[in-house]
Amino acid sequence: MHLTTPIAIALGSNLSNHLGSPLDILNAAIARLQQLPQLDQLVVSSWYRTAPIGPAQPNYTNGCAIATVPASLSPLVFLQQLQQIELDHGRVRHERWGARTLDLDLILWGDRTIKTPNLTVPHPHWRDRAFCPRSSR
Ligand code: ATP
Ligand code: CA
Ligand code: CA
Repeated sequence: MHLTTPIAIALGSNLSNHLGSPLDILNAAIARLQQLPQLDQLVVSSWYRTAPIGPAQPNYTNGCAIATVPASLSPLVFLQQLQQIELDHGRVRHERWGARTLDLDLILWGDRTIKTPNLTVPHPHWRDRAFCPRSSR
């Protein structure tokens, strides 16, 4: 038997680019997640339109995905894979909370609490975001 850990990923987009609309970009990101060999049992929410937090910018399209990963997988290594998918979809960092083509946040990693300079889990704001799972609020 292989031990697995359940994880949750929040997805968001509020900018179009040559790959298409925010919805196209989010669907392409889901396709990339489906191709990751470590991810199993991927389930994706509906897409939601939400008002932006931070500077004035277009509304977001947001959703949440849950999946399982091998218990041996490093969350930091997985975060790097999410950041690579962001870059591959034209993510450019301008200002904090500014408009972006793709934002992938790691919301939950099993029941672990992680506090490193590059990764905080559970994600500090996930409880404020209506499109994230609420069962353990
Ligand atoms: P917020 O995190 O408040 O939603 P944001 O998504 O706009 O803001 P980014 O600019 O995408 O923030 O990310 C800034 C940094 O946050 C990343 O470089 C990453 O190292 C760090 N980070 C810390 N915890 C997490 C997490 N749980 N998921 C994704 N990135 C995280
Ligand atoms: Ca975010
Ligand atoms: Ca982010």
